[in-house]
Amino acid sequence: MHKGSISVQTENIFPIIKKFLYSDHEIFLRELVSNAVDATTKLKTLSGKGLIKGDIGETAIEILLDEEAKTLTIRDRGIGMTADEVEKYLNQVAFSSATEFVEKYKDDASIIGHFGLGFYSAFMVASKVEVRTLSYQDGAKGVTWACEGNPEYTLEDNDKDFRGTDVILHINEESKEFLGNSRIEQLLDKYCKFLPVPIQFGTRTE
Ligand code: ADP
Ligand code: MG
Repeated sequence: MHKGSISVQTENIFPIIKKFLYSDHEIFLRELVSNAVDATTKLKTLSGKGLIKGDIGETAIEILLDEEAKTLTIRDRGIGMTADEVEKYLNQVAFSSATEFVEKYKDDASIIGHFGLGFYSAFMVASKVEVRTLSYQDGAKGVTWACEGNPEYTLEDNDKDFRGTDVILHINEESKEFLGNSRIEQLLDKYCKFLPVPIQFGTRTE
């Protein structure tokens, strides 16, 4: 196992994310589903160019709710990430002049996505986020990144055997509404219609 600190250009990113608690926390689902769609689209593009051998198989995105474990999982079968990519894309949060940014845009949560805070919006609703991922690349090894909403994270090997990424949100006390089927259905209706990859939740597919 490996431990490290998330590097942010100016200051700890988490107080900034928490400020957004006062606005629209529900946007986390749109951000995570859009990352899942991006990862799947990239895989399809590589496959279309003949850069992936054989049939890519299933590519649907799944949303899984476990009320007992208090987790919400966004599962894709996209390109996944290697350990190096996790370090690069999830830990190196480039965020200049963070405070100024929040002051300027605090009333417009939709702006978050444009600044690559997309993934980190998960911490608005989760006390812990786990990312279990396996890259599509030959010989890749699965890795699990975990972080509890502070600058420390852990990274360890896993035995995931199908390419793609599970983002597992351990929903916090204040956000229990997101453990309800109807609330998730409502968000899928609001943010996740007409996407280029089918999104499955329970028995329904968007
Ligand atoms: P953005 O989507 O604007 O690049 P995010 O904060 O949403 O910013 O995500 C950061 C990066 O993490 C993405 O660009 C991508 O490289 C990686 N990433 C996030 N989610 C996934 C995923 N489900 N599969 C593969 N890579 C991902
Ligand atoms: Mg994104």
